[in-house]
Amino acid sequence: MRRATLRAPLARRRPRVPLQVARGLAATSPPDARRLSTRSLPDYNTQVDVANIRLSKPKRPPPTKRRKAADGEWQGLKDLRARLKAEGSMVDQTLVDMESDADFQRTLKAYKEKGAAKLTLEEKKERRRQLDALGVPEFFDFLGRELETPSKARKSCEVFQLNVGLYCNQACAHCHVESSPKRFEAMSEAVAERCVEILAASPSVHTLDITGGAPELNPQFRAIVEGARRAVGDRVDIIDRCNLTVLTEPGQEDLADFLAHHGVRVVASLPCYSSKNVNQQRGRGVFGRSIEGLRVLNEAGYGAEGGDLHMDLVYNPLGAFLPPPQEALEAKYHEELKREFGVDFNELFTMTNMPIKRFADFLSRRGELKDYLDLLVRNFNPDTVDTLMCRNTLSVSWDGSVYDCDFNQQLGNPLALQDAPLASVFDFRSTDEFLESDIRFDNHCFGCTAGMGSS
Ligand code: SF4
Ligand code: SF4
Repeated sequence: MRRATLRAPLARRRPRVPLQVARGLAATSPPDARRLSTRSLPDYNTQVDVANIRLSKPKRPPPTKRRKAADGEWQGLKDLRARLKAEGSMVDQTLVDMESDADFQRTLKAYKEKGAAKLTLEEKKERRRQLDALGVPEFFDFLGRELETPSKARKSCEVFQLNVGLYCNQACAHCHVESSPKRFEAMSEAVAERCVEILAASPSVHTLDITGGAPELNPQFRAIVEGARRAVGDRVDIIDRCNLTVLTEPGQEDLADFLAHHGVRVVASLPCYSSKNVNQQRGRGVFGRSIEGLRVLNEAGYGAEGGDLHMDLVYNPLGAFLPPPQEALEAKYHEELKREFGVDFNELFTMTNMPIKRFADFLSRRGELKDYLDLLVRNFNPDTVDTLMCRNTLSVSWDGSVYDCDFNQQLGNPLALQDAPLASVFDFRSTDEFLESDIRFDNHCFGCTAGMGSS
């Protein structure tokens, strides 16, 4: 699978279409996000200096003496590459941190005792209970109240999204797929090959969106990219949802060249340009490794203005607030990343945090779930409704089952099909066969329609 030397890039070109996708690592905003109306969004006022936003933490006594930098803290650019090489994989550290994190342990225990399906059901009920307390109806009824012609219709199937598995070298506090080094669900070769066949038989698909976990650590990742390029050439843009730190993992030294060679667009999560905030949300040492990942991608040709290899970043808030305006934050990111680290990227997408899975737990533990749902409903933006990700996407799980979007996938909400409870990639040939199926909206969908949206 790994190749020491790679041929010249097949197709270095600017993707034809704007992004539109879900997260995991994260997601991007709708194509027209920058043109969406912000009138009457009362809480769309988060400051652009996101590095200065701090989460409330339990009070601790002040430190009595200056301490040395702990393992995993940002220690500057000097010798960064050599230091990370000496450290090796970050998986061991992530596992140690999970062991000592009371929240992870509580969630793990609940998973063992109740199972994923029961926990997901409890989570849905809790969202409903809080929305009831706020007097907010079901999502589609709410749309009926706000819009003249609400619709559940899918418009097209242009984006084919594959979640190839849940294994990740990180275990971020807000992960909506609950990924970590302890999750071994992974797409099989048979499912991966079938997905490439479907792609080839689906002329309306213009984007193949590969996500995870850390998708690059899945054994099928490179085979899918190579198979897709062989099957459809440049007809389809391929997106890799990259957590950046994966580029520093042993065995991934040629990843940037592999991506460049196949003209893969990189969409990477970086929730701040400050080490403290990134490490707090995504784990110890993640900031330094992310900066190194960005530098490696820049060296491979990614992120240059006017270049063909696109590298976009995704910002999602640290806590229960809406992201700041995208354009202003993008300018700030460009300035900070260039000045401090010499890093270039193309665009920044801001995402609203979806109140599901780990982020829902995070809110519940702080007693903030109701307030957050209230914030989402209060900032309902009708302009997002026509460009929701589910309007033109099909999302495939690691086991081959098919959903409207990655969020529905993680919540186990199957497609709203009349004759089959759960569609599998082995049940259809082309994505166009789903054009008639309705979208299955649910309570979490308020996360996609707040502010500038989340899909
Ligand atoms: S744990 Fe992995 S998949 Fe989840 S948000 Fe973090 S990097 Fe992304
Ligand atoms: S969460 Fe709901 S609104 Fe958002 S993409 Fe999925 S189905 Fe559509």
